Amino acid sequence: MHRDTVAEVSIGAIRDNVARIKRALPARVKLMAVVKADGYGHGAAVAAAAAERAGADLLAVAYLDEALQLRAKGTLLPILILTPIHPAEVMFALEHDLMITVASADWFRRMAPYRHSSCRKKLKVHVKADTGLGRIGLRTREEWDELAPWLSAEDVEVDGFYTHFATASREDTRFLRQQADTFLAMKTWVAESGIAVRHYHCAGSAAALRFPELAMDMVRIGAAMFGFYPEELVRDVSLRPALSLRSRLIQVKLLRRGECLGYDNSYVAEEDQWIGTVPIGYADGWSQSLRHSEMLVNGIRVQVVGKICMDQLMVRLPGRCEPGDEVVLIGRQGEERITFKELAACVGSVPQEISTGLSERVERIYTE
Ligand SMILES: *Cc1c(COP(=O)(O)O)cnc(C)c1O
Repeated sequence: MHRDTVAEVSIGAIRDNVARIKRALPARVKLMAVVKADGYGHGAAVAAAAAERAGADLLAVAYLDEALQLRAKGTLLPILILTPIHPAEVMFALEHDLMITVASADWFRRMAPYRHSSCRKKLKVHVKADTGLGRIGLRTREEWDELAPWLSAEDVEVDGFYTHFATASREDTRFLRQQADTFLAMKTWVAESGIAVRHYHCAGSAAALRFPELAMDMVRIGAAMFGFYPEELVRDVSLRPALSLRSRLIQVKLLRRGECLGYDNSYVAEEDQWIGTVPIGYADGWSQSLRHSEMLVNGIRVQVVGKICMDQLMVRLPGRCEPGDEVVLIGRQGEERITFKELAACVGSVPQEISTGLSERVERIYTE
């Protein structure tokens, strides 16, 4: 690639993070590495391989296509698809040995005509329970009782029963505790119906790191393997971000007092000042909502000025700089550091919205 803007991904950081998370949990707890959305923007296959080397036991993705892409790249670990697949596509799961998420008897009813009777493989499922996130999952005893007979069929294997927390990164743990209690109550439904479940799991990154006692048989780790976690609430584990984003000034100019720049004259100079142009824009995922973010030039924080364009943006420089000078948008330069967290705060979101937002046009380069 021929661009100055690159995302550098440290494979070693992902490995270290996974290894540290594993060490923080009881030894019998399995680690499922969640590499959906192209490994949170880091590259799914690379992240999966790094996690596997560091001891991950299984993988998870959001969609069937993501699972098929991993299989096409030769990934052999078990893979769970977290979003229910279309019933008509069940053969893909069977052929590629993918575990699927189910939440209703209705799914099985609609799937039945599509399952080839000649296929001898067992369909491996994880049942999803909704304990308060309100996204996917069964909620009532009736729904469970309707689903259970489908699960006890010869050709179905229940590899997991799981739920997902809504407030695991919040300091206030009341809702999380309530969800955990609901989940434990649902476990008794499973026991009462005599269905064997291999893994119970409920914790994503934040819950697993904050409450190892909620790890049960398995944890589903996405954010934390890339270094995203509520640091202020997790004392015993220290993780580091795996991705940094760098570019270079491609033009430097003096803007005179009263002159303006940017689309719609979005910035007017109140005094003479040096301006640099950086080759990254909203088509790279550096959205307009990052307009008030900062980046680093020569170890100093600089501000974006004017509207962010599709392919470039402008920054106000601390003084005269040279075209070619390095710009750090995420990561360290000298003593300063731009964190995912501060960028996420700019857009009112979480770090992974920044990393997954980086478009394909931003080349990922990998270091050990
Ligand atoms: C994305 C996802 C995870 C991973 O969550 P992190 O907070 O990124 O670790 C776990 N479980 C489910 C159901 C998910 O959708």
